[in-house]
Amino acid sequence: MLYDLIVIGGGINGTGIARDAAGRGLSVLLVEQDSLARHTSSASSKLVHGGLRYLEYLHLRLVRESLLERERLLAIAPHLVSRKRFVLPYRSWLRPAWAVRLGLFLYDWLGRSSTLESSARVRFASSTYGAPLRPNLKLGFAYSDCTVDDSRLVILNAKDAAEHGADIRVGHRLVRALRDGGEWRADIHCEATGESYAARARAIVNAAGPWVAEVLAGRLGTGSRQPMRLVKGSHIVVNRLYEGDHAYALQHTDRRLVFVIPFLDDYTLIGTTDVPWHGEPGPVAIDPAETEYLCQVVNRSFERQIGPADVVWSYAGIRALQDDGVAEASAVTRDYVLQLDAPAGLAPVLSVLGGKITTYRRLAELALEKLEPHLGSMHEPWTSSASLPGGDLPGGDIEAFVTLLRRRWPFLGDAESRRLARAYGTRALRLLEPVRSRADMGEEFGGGMTRLEVDYLVREEWARSAEDIAWRHSKTGLRATTADQQRLRDYLGR
Ligand SMILES: Cc1cc2nc3c(=O)[nH]c(=O)nc-3n(C[C@H](O)[C@H](O)[C@H](O)COP(=O)(O)OP(=O)(O)OC[C@H]3O[C@@H](n4cnc5c(N)ncnc54)[C@H](O)[C@@H]3O)c2cc1C
Repeated sequence: MLYDLIVIGGGINGTGIARDAAGRGLSVLLVEQDSLARHTSSASSKLVHGGLRYLEYLHLRLVRESLLERERLLAIAPHLVSRKRFVLPYRSWLRPAWAVRLGLFLYDWLGRSSTLESSARVRFASSTYGAPLRPNLKLGFAYSDCTVDDSRLVILNAKDAAEHGADIRVGHRLVRALRDGGEWRADIHCEATGESYAARARAIVNAAGPWVAEVLAGRLGTGSRQPMRLVKGSHIVVNRLYEGDHAYALQHTDRRLVFVIPFLDDYTLIGTTDVPWHGEPGPVAIDPAETEYLCQVVNRSFERQIGPADVVWSYAGIRALQDDGVAEASAVTRDYVLQLDAPAGLAPVLSVLGGKITTYRRLAELALEKLEPHLGSMHEPWTSSASLPGGDLPGGDIEAFVTLLRRRWPFLGDAESRRLARAYGTRALRLLEPVRSRADMGEEFGGGMTRLEVDYLVREEWARSAEDIAWRHSKTGLRATTADQQRLRDYLGR
């Protein structure tokens, strides 16, 4: 079969582009060499944000676009995206208070159509925001942004792409592709069968994240070299550090911001680091110096002191950033570039360089705009107001939906109703449809993950392993024991 588009990469950018393209009537094949969201797109700080820090580098276009997207993602995925108040303790030796206030004023103004609360000054002595902080911190600022379940955002984009007709193949690696006039001829290797097969397409999208340069120069043989930088970022998770639903943005002596964010009710997520990466782009882990750094940042601001022994989980990822020649890894632009390689008479390839979770939807729209002259007419842009699967919550009200689940399936309890509502939105109704009692959900594999859900994730969401289920399709891995994980492996093996 001749596809309109082969998309390489099942991260947020690949699945976002596949979804948009399929909805515009294009025939799409997406290949992901590992599992969906296996790499950078599950290792983010899980923020849908304008990026307050980027104001300092005057990346106003990126901030404005991100703030607009923040609003759109809240509307199309209210189960995955949540409003959050961030508290920024003031450090007088870093920036004058008026400069911080001005920055926040600009942030509010750039996001002026937002439904989120504006920024405000906070005196910690008279605010609960000050309760967990060290007494030397007297003053701060509060502003609004959003958090997101990054890996589920990827998976639900893939799901919607498939529901619009895209062919999503997980565990399939694009080995190489060559141009044959106006077509690409691709060799694809399937991990499960060990076999390779051929596929043809009129265009390729290279959304291979940290592999983007390798794919472009090596696997597509375009000879094109991209000045890219790989930067590793890591996070730690500790038991809940403080009461309240708000997050903190801590400024460190190196002027970087480290976020401290409530995570899955009982935990606190802390990150990120920014470390230049010169190795292979594959799986990475936090190193002891990064753990020390993150603990140190927290300990300078919080009364409660933490150390490496408090870390209950950690993760790391690699971003591919355009190399704009600046020295500091944290100062490299987070903006994206869509690079089109389309010699006359030959099939095009569009490469995605850089980017953020926050801007993936708009990036996908622009990618298709660039490809349209080569692919011919397609339907109008459609994703700005179309809910992602499960995102059609009445009034966007997640709390009302949690209550509905709890009423219809009282044995789920509060925590489980909330987890399922957040993960699946209205699709939870389909998942639970045949369930009359707890026993109908079958064996439990820890953290509330039941056989009913495992079967659904394998059947409907391309889950391939216990690790996929525990860490990407859900985060039940945080609460599951080693024995639970082994039972899940055994079950999947059967
Ligand atoms: C530490 C950190 C924190 C971040 N925090 C935030 C944040 O809070 N908010 C935000 O908006 N952004 C954040 N980002 C940025 C965001 O995570 C990335 O921009 C985004 O995830 C990149 O997605 P991607 O789809 O381009 O890449 P990836 O998610 O890496 O996906 C690329 C995929 O391509 C696949 N692939 C590669 N080669 C092949 C091949 N030959 N065949 C088939 N498949 C292939 C890979 O297996 C991979 O799954 C953060 C990034 C990092 C590293």
